[in-house]
Amino acid sequence: MKTQRFGDISVQKVLDGVENFKAVIAFPEIDLEVFNQHKNWIEPFYDFAKKTIRISMHSYVISTPEINIIVDTCIGNDKNRVGNGPIYKANADVLAHWNLRESAYLQNLNNIGLRAEDIDYVMCTHLHADHVGWNTRLENNRWIPTFPNAKYLFSPDELASISQESNNPYDQYTKLVYEDSVLPVIEAGQSILIDNGLDLGKGIHLLPTPGHSPGHYCIEIESVKHKGILTGDILHNPIQVNYPGLSTMFCADKTQSNEQRIKLVDQLTDTETIVLAAHFCGSTAGRIISNNDSREFLLI
Ligand SMILES: [Zn+2]
Repeated sequence: MKTQRFGDISVQKVLDGVENFKAVIAFPEIDLEVFNQHKNWIEPFYDFAKKTIRISMHSYVISTPEINIIVDTCIGNDKNRVGNGPIYKANADVLAHWNLRESAYLQNLNNIGLRAEDIDYVMCTHLHADHVGWNTRLENNRWIPTFPNAKYLFSPDELASISQESNNPYDQYTKLVYEDSVLPVIEAGQSILIDNGLDLGKGIHLLPTPGHSPGHYCIEIESVKHKGILTGDILHNPIQVNYPGLSTMFCADKTQSNEQRIKLVDQLTDTETIVLAAHFCGSTAGRIISNNDSREFLLI
């Protein structure tokens, strides 16, 4: 992704990896024919031969003249993500890739000119396993915060929810994820609970968007001339801009998730706002435009 600029705020992408999910598993209600109908623009995001969606796992680094904020920390290295339940078995081909990984994420961070020590804030849009992994890293058999000088922003609703039962298959990993990627940060005294008064500086706004998970946030970035939005997991694949009523199996509250997505896609269509989704692959940044009676996501 090219560096996106919003006045004196910039956004860069740091890749952890790209996964392929079976589309019918990710979107239980999908008719695969929709990909054929939108082949002219959906091709970078869908493998027509394998019927899989390409899911990028990446962070965004928002840099202002004062601070660096890293948003979502992907899957991480060395994490135990093997489960035993039926939902794990149904998705084992994908989820096994998340176990004991060795990705070049920190090198990729260095490649954009930053060290872990340069990060001032870590913002997880939500606390699913693929958004908190690099919160910590393994050192001498202990999980320690990857970003030693950062404050980590956690949603109170999200923290409360990870101890509850839900339909989200990744919640089978809740205990593992909490213990290796959230609790060590809290114990290190580096966590802050998000509240209404939280100010990350001019032009950066946290937008509560519960649905995919109870305490999900989007992040809006605004300068005098340019606007962008980090949409977290409101969107997983660009096909959803044309079918915003399409939830994934990973959405905790399907109805609320659909409502958030429909509202957001309506607001963004045919505007200049740059959409920066948590899982869109390739050059990633783009805009939602209408084309006759359908909508498309166009990479920029
Ligand atoms: Zn995700």
